[in-house]
Amino acid sequence: MRPVRGQVLGAIASAGAVAILAGSGCAYASLAPASQLFGPTVVAGRDPAELALTFDDGPNDPWTSRLLDLLALHRVQATFFLIGKYVRQCPELVREIRGAGHLIGNHTVTHPWLAVESPSRVRQELADCNRALEDVLGEPVRFFRPPHGSRRPGVLQSARELGLTPVMWNAMGYDWRPDTTASRIAAHLERGIARSRRRGRGANLLLHDGGHLALGADRSQSIGATRIILERHRPAQTRYVTVDAWV
Ligand SMILES: [Zn+2]
Repeated sequence: MRPVRGQVLGAIASAGAVAILAGSGCAYASLAPASQLFGPTVVAGRDPAELALTFDDGPNDPWTSRLLDLLALHRVQATFFLIGKYVRQCPELVREIRGAGHLIGNHTVTHPWLAVESPSRVRQELADCNRALEDVLGEPVRFFRPPHGSRRPGVLQSARELGLTPVMWNAMGYDWRPDTTASRIAAHLERGIARSRRRGRGANLLLHDGGHLALGADRSQSIGATRIILERHRPAQTRYVTVDAWV
């Protein structure tokens, strides 16, 4: 699925607006994952033994199903922030994620840079993704992660008005880089875990089982990195949690 011209131009326009924001001094609060300046967001709890695996941009088979198998093998529950347009296309897979006991959150319908969108568009992206998830799951959605980590006070306020708690992260795998490998992704995550523990915090790991540009993105390296983390951090020493443990 190639994006049509309008989508490409929209993405370029949004990227330009983000560049302007980045030069304005708001960039830290708008994009830094742990910044609380634009309003409270959930990052992690105060128990350094806790670790949350979070996966964005799905559902996206075959990778989501392989990930579900891997998590089941280790008896670990994770958090999935799903894109509404894929939820509409793959409702069965969404029910499988939930049926396996994982937590599901809102990641908007089309994955825009929310910090540069109008208030009405922000609200529509959040409300429509909620509706897509609630139609499929038959239960309310309580958590939201802004695409690209992009936010401003109005974004967080809209989320809260819809009953959504915004969630960020404090350990990143950089698994969107095109030539990365499972071991490199795992090494980035390990640095984030170590940094969080030094600060006396749990670790909230950001990974992807999908890609926001189209269904079918290859996430083999992200799944491989998840396997490495699960084998190194056995449940005996690590308490795997979903992000609702931190509110
Ligand atoms: Zn995303």
